[in-house]
Amino acid sequence: TRADIELLWKIFAKDGQALPTFDAFEKGVEPLIPAALRRTSPYLTHPVFNTHHSETGMLRYIRQLSDKDLALDRSMIPLGSCTMKLNATSEMIPITWPEFANMHPFAPADQQQGYKELDEQLRAWLCQATGYAGISLQPNAGSQGEYAGLLAIQAYHAAQGHAHRNICLIPSSAHGTNPASAQMVGMQVVVTKCDENGNVDMADLQAKCEQHSQNLACVMITYPSTHGVFETQVKELCALVHRHGGRVYVDGANMNALVGVAAPGEFGGDVSHLNLHKTFCIPHGGGGPGVGPVCVVQDLVPYLPGLPGQGDQPQAPAQGKVGPVSAAPLGNAAVLPISWMYIRMMGAVGLQAATEAAILSANYISARLKDHYPTLYASANGHVAHECILDLRGLKDTSGVMAEDVAKRLIDYGFHAPTLSFPVPNTLMVEPTESETLFEIDRFIDAMIAIRGEIRQIENGAMPQDNNPLKNAPHTAENLLSGEWARPYSREAAAYPVAALRQAKYWSPVGRVDNVYGDRNLFCSCLPVSELG
Ligand SMILES: *Cc1c(COP(=O)(O)O)cnc(C)c1O
Repeated sequence: TRADIELLWKIFAKDGQALPTFDAFEKGVEPLIPAALRRTSPYLTHPVFNTHHSETGMLRYIRQLSDKDLALDRSMIPLGSCTMKLNATSEMIPITWPEFANMHPFAPADQQQGYKELDEQLRAWLCQATGYAGISLQPNAGSQGEYAGLLAIQAYHAAQGHAHRNICLIPSSAHGTNPASAQMVGMQVVVTKCDENGNVDMADLQAKCEQHSQNLACVMITYPSTHGVFETQVKELCALVHRHGGRVYVDGANMNALVGVAAPGEFGGDVSHLNLHKTFCIPHGGGGPGVGPVCVVQDLVPYLPGLPGQGDQPQAPAQGKVGPVSAAPLGNAAVLPISWMYIRMMGAVGLQAATEAAILSANYISARLKDHYPTLYASANGHVAHECILDLRGLKDTSGVMAEDVAKRLIDYGFHAPTLSFPVPNTLMVEPTESETLFEIDRFIDAMIAIRGEIRQIENGAMPQDNNPLKNAPHTAENLLSGEWARPYSREAAAYPVAALRQAKYWSPVGRVDNVYGDRNLFCSCLPVSELG
């Protein structure tokens, strides 16, 4: 009522301040947005904004979108380096509870007791899993964790009177975010070589440590490496960098191969980030939501990200010598219950078993595919870590087939592609994770073997290099049902290359997309003007 509003005006007015009156409003007040800045042109005119007005209509629209999607609810997503594992329903349910979902990040501390407990327990568990002394949950992505970790190293050197230490050594096998983060904090990146087995070239690393000894800030390594291998000289590597006054950043994106088995804080790392959206089950894809906690050894704890110091906020690292790296004290707090649930339900024994199963599954794939697609890098004992790089580079000469063609053909077999051409061009990197059953892993392997058979037909001349099931993949229903079919293979061979697909078939909604062209040429997907009427 008007009386309520007048009461509110009174409550919020300063002493002696004149209160507004309803008369004034009735005469019309200038709206907040000045007339000159108000939009008069049409907006949100695309039909998608004006079509679905009933709940069933919206439901069917969302269903249509999900039918186009090739996601974990249809097949394994064997993306190496991405750790696409089960996001269990029981892990996800708590994030729907209003106590977690509706909390404002700057609500008074006495209203945040639950989050405080979650923060403390999760940080303690993650420290235990990584062997580090301190951790901040603030960074919103692995790359932000890298940024925060490098800021800590930088601030540490500055505090020792060594602000000039700004060289960051990064092996050539690194994930692209590593050099990008180093650039962001203003470090100078020096790339070090890998040997023919894909391991860090220790001689080159030593030479660069010596050359830059006075100015060495840190090295950034990934363990196990982005080549999917446990490098056996990692302890010596850490000791070498330490001898030259540098700190060791261990990229923890591959922790799915380590949790419960080895801890970076124990084998020589000084700083790591975790990807809770990889190793600790937060669903990811499409850019979020990520959580990239940064973990550090004891003498770097004072340099963990600070908080946007609000009087009564939980102030984890008291001084906050390094500023905040995200706007909320706990970053993407709302999704933390997922990782909490995962760790709580698995327990230490379960987490270790998960790591072992992830490694076993990757080795199983590598071993079963070895006569069809050799694994590029392995340890001296022939084993890989939690992922393997399948080497398809030889196929180009024998058949004209590129890794991309196999990736596209896998869609016809109902699989999301593995990681394509990273970290080595024209290879596929496969990471099954512990979540996939033997049945699903075998289904994938059988698809890969069947595709190798299709490639053999090209190799022996039965199928032309530029017109075959791989080059034309993926095949849409429209493609296959059109009147004319003049291809050198049958429609059945295109759509149902293995019998099981007759039971459950994913139909690609679009044919081959030119990835590189699409990435480099922005175009509008709006309806043409003519259709807007
Ligand atoms: C995923 C990944 C990153 C980056 O993490 P984001 O959360 O995507 O920013 C860094 N390094 C490696 C090895 C990764 O696999």
